[in-house]
Amino acid sequence: MSNANRPAESAYRPYKLLIDGKLVDGAMTMDVINPATEAVLASCPRASEAQLDEAVAAAKAAFGVWADTSIADRRAKILQFADAIRDDAFPLAHLLTQEQGKPFPEAQMEISYSEAFIRQIALHDLPVEVIEDSDSRRVELHRKPLGVVGAIIPWNFPVLLMVAFKLPFALLAGNTLVIKPAPTTPLTTLRLGEMMADIFPAGVVNIITDQNDLGARLTAHPDVAKISFTGSTETGRRVMAGAAASIKRLTLELGGNDAAIVLPDVDPAVVAPAIFNGAFLNAGQVCIAIKRVYAHTEIYDALCNELACLADRAMVDDGLKQGTQIGPVQNKAQYEKLKSFIEDGRANGTVIAGGQVEDRLGYFIRPTIVRDIADGARLVDEEQFGPILPIIRFDDAEDALARANASDSGLGGSIWSNDRAKAHDLASRMESGTVWINKHLDFGPTIPFGGAKQSGLGVEFTEEGLHEFTQIRVINANNAALV
Ligand code: NAD
Repeated sequence: MSNANRPAESAYRPYKLLIDGKLVDGAMTMDVINPATEAVLASCPRASEAQLDEAVAAAKAAFGVWADTSIADRRAKILQFADAIRDDAFPLAHLLTQEQGKPFPEAQMEISYSEAFIRQIALHDLPVEVIEDSDSRRVELHRKPLGVVGAIIPWNFPVLLMVAFKLPFALLAGNTLVIKPAPTTPLTTLRLGEMMADIFPAGVVNIITDQNDLGARLTAHPDVAKISFTGSTETGRRVMAGAAASIKRLTLELGGNDAAIVLPDVDPAVVAPAIFNGAFLNAGQVCIAIKRVYAHTEIYDALCNELACLADRAMVDDGLKQGTQIGPVQNKAQYEKLKSFIEDGRANGTVIAGGQVEDRLGYFIRPTIVRDIADGARLVDEEQFGPILPIIRFDDAEDALARANASDSGLGGSIWSNDRAKAHDLASRMESGTVWINKHLDFGPTIPFGGAKQSGLGVEFTEEGLHEFTQIRVINANNAALV
């Protein structure tokens, strides 16, 4: 059946963990809340420590056979999973909107990107590289899987971050997986687990859920060889500490505080929509969203006004309602945190759009634009991770760059100018893993992705990203005869 005809299934259905190829109940249950209504969306299994240990044991037991399976056969299974996502894209997106809050078209995009990313990533190979083959020696570089990989996922892109950033790389390289979604967005992942149960051999992929209480155990587990973590910098530090005892391999994709520096030669009316989208996609809950705008004094007022107009016009509503541009923020804790950021904006700047939560059920915050605010305010210095954007004035681009670089974060950033050479010069000195020119948020499986400074460790995507799921083995043979 094509996606268009496939009915959206009710979220009120049983969900199961995936452990050792079996779909099983959790030792406990937990409610998952729809952030647009604050109603219980579904009851969800919650794993115990013993179930986490079972999942790791199953992944460990499955590792040998999966690692010995040819990369072509592993690729075929991964592509079968991409087919399953394609076939269920509509109900998956429907469920994703209900648990995460994002507008349905954005959820559809997350699902279709996930499928497309898998297909691209699955093209990679891990050939043996011959480094030297001379009279004296033959040196080969082999890349071996690591073992059990723990994949820990946040709540902003539950599918994309799991399916595109982690699963295909880990499995293609020959590792097995224990996946742990965020407590507030486990349902779509569990739904994908039902598909995986039919595709991958028992134990190759396991999915457990928690209430923020199993991540530390997974991270410190002696039978886990690598943790691929996406989440906040604060939790990233704990992951690093937990992994230290067994010197686990780590990929950490952490928080950001992306600056957009807007030079005076641009037309504010032209750049404002792109800056707005870069800041407010997924209600601002994007690691690489624009989180602070530095605007030159000559265009400062005009850019503030353009962004405020867009914010005033934006339709904020349930993501399932047609026309919604901005859904609710994902969970109550984040909602409360964002209210304190609005207060900070009010105390240290001028709120010219939004600034209020909606008087209704659901975690709705209108897109908020704060001007006349400076570095030193919490809203500028910290990652707000929500629909509140500070706009800071500058006179000198070098000063703006210095202020953008003064952050401990270094995930992304952007320069906006019609002067290509000037923009490129500033971009090359911006201390971030990715710097865009005249755009933001553009990424894909053929482009390496990683954070500078405290925004992360390691690289995702491309061959480089695949290599992070492997251990090198150098075979260095004496080519001279043993005489
Ligand atoms: P979080 O750090 O609170 O949680 C992320 C995951 O870690 C969840 O699954 C959580 O249950 C788990 N966790 C909690 N305590 C743990 C522990 N002690 N050990 C191991 N795991 C533990 O993050 P969040 O609030 O869910 O997500 C928002 C953050 O994620 C933002 O800072 C955002 O910038 C960041 N993020 C980064 C990227 C990136 O690619 N750099 C992408 C998306 C989100």
